[in-house]
Amino acid sequence: MSGARWAEGKVRLEIPFSIPGVSTVMMLESEGNVNMIECGDGAAGYLYSVFGRKLELYELLSSVIVSHEHLDHAGGLNSVLWLLEVAGRRGDLSVVTPEGSTGAAYKSAKPMIGKLNYKVHFLNSSEKRRVEIGGLVLESFDTRHRDSFPSNRCGNPVASVGYSAEAEGSRIVFSGDTGPVSGLQEKCSSADLAVIESTWEKPVDCDGLHLTVKEAMEYGALAGESIMVHPLRDRQGNIIM
Ligand SMILES: [Zn+2]
Repeated sequence: MSGARWAEGKVRLEIPFSIPGVSTVMMLESEGNVNMIECGDGAAGYLYSVFGRKLELYELLSSVIVSHEHLDHAGGLNSVLWLLEVAGRRGDLSVVTPEGSTGAAYKSAKPMIGKLNYKVHFLNSSEKRRVEIGGLVLESFDTRHRDSFPSNRCGNPVASVGYSAEAEGSRIVFSGDTGPVSGLQEKCSSADLAVIESTWEKPVDCDGLHLTVKEAMEYGALAGESIMVHPLRDRQGNIIM
């Protein structure tokens, strides 16, 4: 849900907005580290609203971690990279995308790599790949997602992953965009928090695209706590974001 917040010990999660097709941005903070999870449109504006003119804070952003390269999850990367440059950033930044991605994040950032005053490292995530990054132990798991437009709701499959992130003794699962998938069930079990996409109010005839609210709640119930994100409108046309 847009505007959701969660905290446990020294770990804090903020979800300023998560609107399907528009933008999802989340910020995960642990001691001395900030990691951005998903980077849709408006990510730079949100970052500026948090860090403002305290330029030293822009060094705290360790990584931008995206579940897949649809524009609403990765289309804000270019502006984030420029905001860091304008703020005088010098430390390296990691950008984590699923293996095989060549979409929004790759295309917007690739021409700038090597031309900024700080280094950007692209890392690929894939099934059970584990990296230590920005104070997190980050493990990815494969999910099932597709292109989708109003005129062609059930498009081609895209490279997509979810993430399990451990920090300061807490473990948080991010589903990304996905249809039902066993890896999500496995990762939600015993997690402290599950952040689950819950796009559809009712089942939709397209395999491996999104979860219904009911499916999302079932995954969420496996974790200690859950937050539902990415809600679309219901059959009556009510927007429930
Ligand atoms: Zn998507």
